[in-house]
Amino acid sequence: MEKVKVLIIGSGPAGYTAAIYTSRANLSPVVYEGIEPGGQLTTTTEIENFPGYPEGITGSAMMEDLKKQAQRFGADVRRGIITDLDLSQRPFKVKVDHEHEIEAEAIIVSTGASAKYLGLESEAKFRGMGVSACATCDGFFYRKKDVAVVGGGDTACEEATYLASICRKVYLIVRKNYLRASKAMQERVFNTPNIEVLFEHNTKEVLGDENGVTGALLYHSETKEERTIDIMGFFLAIGHNPNTEFLKGQLELDEQKYIKVVPGTSKTSVEGVFAAGDVKDPHYRQAITAAGSGCIAALDCERWLLAQK
Ligand code: NDP
Repeated sequence: MEKVKVLIIGSGPAGYTAAIYTSRANLSPVVYEGIEPGGQLTTTTEIENFPGYPEGITGSAMMEDLKKQAQRFGADVRRGIITDLDLSQRPFKVKVDHEHEIEAEAIIVSTGASAKYLGLESEAKFRGMGVSACATCDGFFYRKKDVAVVGGGDTACEEATYLASICRKVYLIVRKNYLRASKAMQERVFNTPNIEVLFEHNTKEVLGDENGVTGALLYHSETKEERTIDIMGFFLAIGHNPNTEFLKGQLELDEQKYIKVVPGTSKTSVEGVFAAGDVKDPHYRQAITAAGSGCIAALDCERWLLAQK
């Protein structure tokens, strides 16, 4: 049984930042990278809104930099997935890839959230080439172009209004005949002249060529009548799934299955377990906010460990 002081689960900006801080505090963190090493950002193209990169940087390069920075101070970054964990007693017991057993004094959970996609083959083919699940990250690349947003919730409305300020035209593709978003958000959409809401529409295929997305083939929910729209960006805003399933109910979650933390801290319902990044944040979901919360988790963790002595 391996004994670890601080175990960090997940390797996006939150996990790596927590690793930088805890390794500099001599806590010898072990980081398990999880299913998607580097996290969601590795699936985006260029990141232009992370402070400190005036020329922008690709998501993969930034994650590689954060990882190296953590390793420089001694963080032990490993491939592997947490398949079992027992938070009922301390030290916590964890199993990696069904075999390697670890006892951890403290745990930082930073497993992120995964954007939901429609599940179309053509959508997967053009991911990063016009298909995106983050308007704030990728909207700028479609300046003065036509784009579409799928979804009828607050995120879809917010993203559509944001894109409308950059793009020439935004189609909002809504599968029902109403928006689920708050009234205020709906009003913003209806009052934005370059947003066209296509109620009762679904996507059959994302269309494109070797340069990326060129359009989308839609069909009407009732009549099944098909129509094509010409667009260069296809944005999904149909929700996120926080990656909390592996916790198997051992931490308190909110109704959307995000980890609940004591407001203003990273403290979860189990003492000694801290949460950082999108796995506890249904609202902001930015690299910079995730990194900031990774720092908070590391500081909370360090102070908590100190108090145990
Ligand atoms: P929601 O779950 O609220 O909305 C998802 C939307 O996507 C719904 O309109 C849903 O349609 C649609 N959808 C889901 N699956 C599909 C599919 N396969 N095909 C087409 N459409 C689909 O998610 P959000 O991300 O919008 O919001 C999450 C939470 O965060 C909410 O509580 C929201 O209020 C909150 N939020 C608040 C904001 C704010 O206050 N500023 C900003 C952003 C989010 P249908 O209605 O038919 O189910």
